[in-house]
Amino acid sequence: MGSADLPAMKTNPKFIFFTDFDGTITTQDSNDYMTDNIGYGRQKRRQGNIDTLEGKITFRDSFKGMMDSVNKPYNECIDFLVQNIKLDPYFNEFFKWSLKNNVPVVVLSSGMEPIIKAILKNLIGPDYDKMQVVGNNVKARPGKSINEEGGWELDFHDDSGFGHDKSLTLRPYAQLPQDQRPTMFYAGDGVSDLSAAKETDLLFAKKGHDLVTYCVKEDVPFTIFEDWRSILEKVKEIAAGKTTVQDAAKQGYELYKAGEAGVKAD
Ligand SMILES: [Mg+2]
Repeated sequence: MGSADLPAMKTNPKFIFFTDFDGTITTQDSNDYMTDNIGYGRQKRRQGNIDTLEGKITFRDSFKGMMDSVNKPYNECIDFLVQNIKLDPYFNEFFKWSLKNNVPVVVLSSGMEPIIKAILKNLIGPDYDKMQVVGNNVKARPGKSINEEGGWELDFHDDSGFGHDKSLTLRPYAQLPQDQRPTMFYAGDGVSDLSAAKETDLLFAKKGHDLVTYCVKEDVPFTIFEDWRSILEKVKEIAAGKTTVQDAAKQGYELYKAGEAGVKAD
C-alpha cells in the first residue's frame, strides 16, 4: 500500500494523532451511556467490560449484546446522545492547534460512525469533517428500517473479535518507509483500545481507566493523560524536540508504580 492510499498522509505530516472517541474525546462513553440508560443497564454492561478485559469474551460479542439491548429508533438514539454527550473541555483547543500545525487527527472507534459524526458536528462545528472517522457502522435489521423501534443493528468494520480492529488502520502507516513515516500518537481509555495499544510510538492512556491496567499487565509502554490539555502540552514538547516519545513512553509505568495513575498498583 502506498502513501496515496493513506488519507492522513496527504499533507506529508511529521505527526499523526490517532485517537479513540468514546471516553477519550468525550467525557463519557456514548455507547455505555446508551446501554446504561436505554439498554440493559449499568451492572450488566460493567460486567461485560470486566469479562472482556479478562479475556473471557470478545469485545465484539460484549458490544453486540450492549447494542442489541437498545430498541429505540436510530434517529432517536442520535438525538439522545447529541443532547447528552460532552467533549473533553480541552479537545477543541487541541484540535485547533492540530489544524494549524499539520497534525492530522484520525478517530478510530468501536462506536458507530453516524453517531460520532453527529456528536462532533454539534460540538466542534464545521471543521468537524477535517477529522477522519473510522469506526463500525449501523444497518437495518431484515425487513425493517433503522429509524423504527428495534430496526437497527451493528454493522462491524471487520471480522475480528474486536469488531473494529484498530491495528488494521494503524499498521499501514507504521510500515511506511522510514523517510516518510510520521511519528504516531494514540490516545485511549478502555477495552476498545486494546487492538491499538501496541501499534503506535506513544500511547496516551487515560488516568484511572482500564487501559492503564491493561498496559501494565501487557508491558505496553504508555504515558498518562487526564484531559486534552495534558495531551496538547506533551505533544507540543515533543514537536519542539524538548522530549522524545521514548522518554514520554516510560512515564506511565513510573506514575503507576508511584500510585499516581489512578489505578491501584499491585
Ligand atoms: Mg473509549
